[in-house]
Amino acid sequence: MEPETQQDDRDHPEIEKRGTPASSGIAIGRAYILDRRRLSIPKTQIDDDDVDEEIARLARALKTSDRQLSRIKEKIQAREESEHYNIIAAHQLILHDEHLVDEAIRRIREDHINAEWALRQTVEHIKGVFDAIEEEYFRERRSDVEFVGERVLRNLLGRDAPVKPPPDAIVVAHDLSPADTAQLFRAAVAGLATDAGGKTSHTAITARAHEIPSVVGLEDLSSVVGNGDLLVVDGAAGVVIINPTPDTVAIYRERARAEAARGAALLENRDLPAVTTDGVHVEIFANVDHADEIASARSHGAVGIGLYRTEYMFMVGTDIPTEEEHYEHARDVLARLDGHPATFRTFDLGADKISRLLPDHHPEQNPALGLRSMRLALSEPIRPLLKEQVRGLLRASAHGPLRIMFPMISGVGELGEARALLDEAAAELASEGIPYDTGIHVGVMVEMPSAAVIADVLAPKVDFFSIGTNDLIQYTLAVDRGNEYVAYAYEPLHPALIRLIAHVTEAAATAGIPVGVCGEAAGDPLIAPVLLGLGVRELSMNAVAIPEVKSHVRAAKMADLTALGERVKTLTTTADIREAVKETLAR
Ligand code: PEP
Ligand code: MG
Repeated sequence: MEPETQQDDRDHPEIEKRGTPASSGIAIGRAYILDRRRLSIPKTQIDDDDVDEEIARLARALKTSDRQLSRIKEKIQAREESEHYNIIAAHQLILHDEHLVDEAIRRIREDHINAEWALRQTVEHIKGVFDAIEEEYFRERRSDVEFVGERVLRNLLGRDAPVKPPPDAIVVAHDLSPADTAQLFRAAVAGLATDAGGKTSHTAITARAHEIPSVVGLEDLSSVVGNGDLLVVDGAAGVVIINPTPDTVAIYRERARAEAARGAALLENRDLPAVTTDGVHVEIFANVDHADEIASARSHGAVGIGLYRTEYMFMVGTDIPTEEEHYEHARDVLARLDGHPATFRTFDLGADKISRLLPDHHPEQNPALGLRSMRLALSEPIRPLLKEQVRGLLRASAHGPLRIMFPMISGVGELGEARALLDEAAAELASEGIPYDTGIHVGVMVEMPSAAVIADVLAPKVDFFSIGTNDLIQYTLAVDRGNEYVAYAYEPLHPALIRLIAHVTEAAATAGIPVGVCGEAAGDPLIAPVLLGLGVRELSMNAVAIPEVKSHVRAAKMADLTALGERVKTLTTTADIREAVKETLAR
């Protein structure tokens, strides 16, 4: 449906805002402001279809509240404050009280209202009953119920509250989580524009995977745009135009048509191999977050999955995936790939990828440097979940070419722990007589500078390397990948990165293992040639980036790229490296 663009917005001047390009494409539509920071209680009538999900959300919030109270209780117990302990214990009982829980569920089911509203009404009702009783004791119980209700509400209003913008809206927000972005795709929004975020933030990556034109890092956009304002989002240029004139809209409509035609032309190379003019084969894989994206990966010409981000299974579902679910899921992925390989990365949670299903850990000052990824997965009480996942993946390996990859490995110790867990899982399966691929390839992501520096030590211990440039750049240059204020300093072609990548490819060559890149740099037509020149032979990227990168590979001569790789290793500034790349590409 075309958005209504003829309505008179001329009282307001056209304003152009520049941010960071996150996902290319042009979107024209009305703004839908999504404010995740507001804590007022939404009151929504829901459809029959949404009843179960609302009840599940309530159950999750109750469970989270229960865990939080248990943790508080443990601390109090350590301090031997028995009176306070009893109060918290009483609060926990209220969480399970049928007058609260069953009544809230009844309201969701019968009154068709969202969980927050149902909970608020139930708490008000219980408070009213206590109010009618004179005794002091019951008045105190009234505030206990209120206290517990507030806690559950806060958990309900967390980042997983569903968002439902109208289709074709352009969602404007201060920030979005990767889980929000995946949900917005399902709501068929036309575009996204956020104040926060950088090009390789997970939100931007998810937007690209779902082909939603997006601009991030717009700093104050959400306070300038009003709900319903007409907007143009030019994802490739990183531009958002507020209240465009009819002439501007016409120009962008024409550009959108031209872009679509160019995309269709590029897709014609879909079934051709990614081989350079001097006959060197490059494997082009896709990065996916969800099995539904595999069709798009294949239709864009991917020869397999180079990075399957399994953590999304912990971010969008209602329960922690079991071994059986990991197994079924991976089998389904292999079936959809029809014999092409899939590289499953074990879950990489923490920092901006938050799972509300895992027990909360203490708030961290610096989550990107905190308990995340492999450290989190190997810590208690999370470790058994990693074991379940690995068992599920190993079992699926009996059904097709499946590789397992560990994220954010810092060094030999962590790799040893992860491998020990995998060996333990494999030994269990063997003793249970359950088949799995005994020659399964197990690799690591090289995305911490420490791993890159000791790549020569790690290489003989693994079957493959996959360089995660998104994090490798972040940690090498100390630039938060999601921070709009330092986005200018996020430089994939910094000489430090060139040297690290060169060291990793050399270490891989010496050990005789393949090395790929699965960070966003692999899908950047300006950077991919440098990666190839440095010895990388596998590139894994967002599906939409494949046709263009493939056309560059097919037009290039590997001997020239190798010469480029040798040259950039000697250069000392990013500017000089960029210049050298442009010269080679121009030739
Ligand atoms: C990376 O860090 O480059 C990577 C591919 O992993 P993610 O983007 O999921 O952190
Ligand atoms: Mg990473």
